[in-house]
Amino acid sequence: MTNPYRSLPSVERLLADELIAPLAARHGHNAVVEIARTVLDEYRGEVERTGSAPAQPPAEAVVERAHALRRSLRRAINVTGIVIHTNLGRAPLSEAAIEAMAEAGRGYSNLEFDLESGERGSRYSHLGGLLRRITGAEAAIAVNNNASALLLALSALAQGGEVLISRGQMVEIGGGFRIPDVMRQSGATLVEVGTTNRTYTRDYAEAITERTVALLRVHSSNFRVVGFTESAPLSELGSLARERRLLLLDDIGSGALLDTRPYGMFEEPMVQDSVVAGADVVLFSGDKLVGGPQAGIAAGKSDPIEAMQRHPLARAMRMDKSSIAGLAATLEHYARGEAPETVPVWRMIAAPLDKLRRRAGKWARAAGEGAEVVAGRSMIGGGTLPGEGQESALCSIATDEGPTALAAALRANDPPIVARIERDRLLLDPRTVDPTEDRAVEAALRALCATDSTPEGAGDSTER
Ligand SMILES: *Cc1c(COP(=O)(O)O)cnc(C)c1O
Repeated sequence: MTNPYRSLPSVERLLADELIAPLAARHGHNAVVEIARTVLDEYRGEVERTGSAPAQPPAEAVVERAHALRRSLRRAINVTGIVIHTNLGRAPLSEAAIEAMAEAGRGYSNLEFDLESGERGSRYSHLGGLLRRITGAEAAIAVNNNASALLLALSALAQGGEVLISRGQMVEIGGGFRIPDVMRQSGATLVEVGTTNRTYTRDYAEAITERTVALLRVHSSNFRVVGFTESAPLSELGSLARERRLLLLDDIGSGALLDTRPYGMFEEPMVQDSVVAGADVVLFSGDKLVGGPQAGIAAGKSDPIEAMQRHPLARAMRMDKSSIAGLAATLEHYARGEAPETVPVWRMIAAPLDKLRRRAGKWARAAGEGAEVVAGRSMIGGGTLPGEGQESALCSIATDEGPTALAAALRANDPPIVARIERDRLLLDPRTVDPTEDRAVEAALRALCATDSTPEGAGDSTER
């Protein structure tokens, strides 16, 4: 009998294998050496225990494990139909925004430099004018995200004072983060008014004390209380705030700069309406319905915005140059009135139903037996209620193994494809897929589903 240890290569020989040599160039020598050592140790252990090495050649085992060295953050195809999908990176960017971000990254810029005077400038200067023109507000600044914009607003404007908020608006915004917890970090005291389902303007009025400094409205972006409900209209809160010399802060979350209703969607509060209604500061995200890079925008009256800009926390929350460039390029689409055609989230929202149906049909044909086009709904965000989103046409697939297995196989695709499951069917919504990615979806479906008709595909289906 041959010595089974002899069949195991040395680390050096293993590294020289033609399968493995390219891995070192891609991932670095040390990482690959570590994997090679681990594999050989395990193989030796196996020989010790059983008297023979595993059947898989060690080089293949190394290649498999080197998958873990791939860059963790990868492009994915979103077929969930959820346009603003926080877990999948929210808004895809316009070409102009992508270009602006690359250009800002590639070289130096006048980020904090006044080209006219040759002296220090402000990074806030690049967005202020655009935001003012688009929102109609007196002043505006942008920081890293909306959670930090809210924290900054409360820290700069309400520290040590009381802020009144409706009990129905003490919301969790996902990932376990709760608005009240974020707000408490500011040193402001939250005072809940009204009840979970009904809050009137008089509830705010009755709760005002000499310590009250602001009224805060928080939009319930990811849920809705329906039925016997009442909330105070923003215009009434605006009047109350002016009368009692308080600030009105309005966290509207998604930050629609365009009206959502013409697109068959539930009404989302618009930034411009909040400004008109008299909010002193309106807060919203840059990467939800604005459709730009991650950012938190505060637009409102000059005094509170300047106080926010001067606050030390502003330095800790400042946006990076690429994001500023990308947000500026995104906002320019709105300034030019072309956002529905150029900003991807609005292009998706505006996609005509017949086009979606045709694309879903192509996907269904690629998937073969068990697949069909069905009527369904796309959603703006992950928390949208069933039946609320926009009408869409979906590719619906039923398989013998059940939708979970097919969903997992699609996630293992390169690039990963993320679908949704409803009532034992796998649903794929073309609305959230750029048409240039359709071929990748079709190819994956053909490879994974079309097992009934093609005998060579039958083997693939066991490889889950
Ligand atoms: C999403 C959301 C936030 C958090 O915004 P980020 O940009 O994710 O930090 C805060 N408030 C509301 C109402 C939201 O919808």
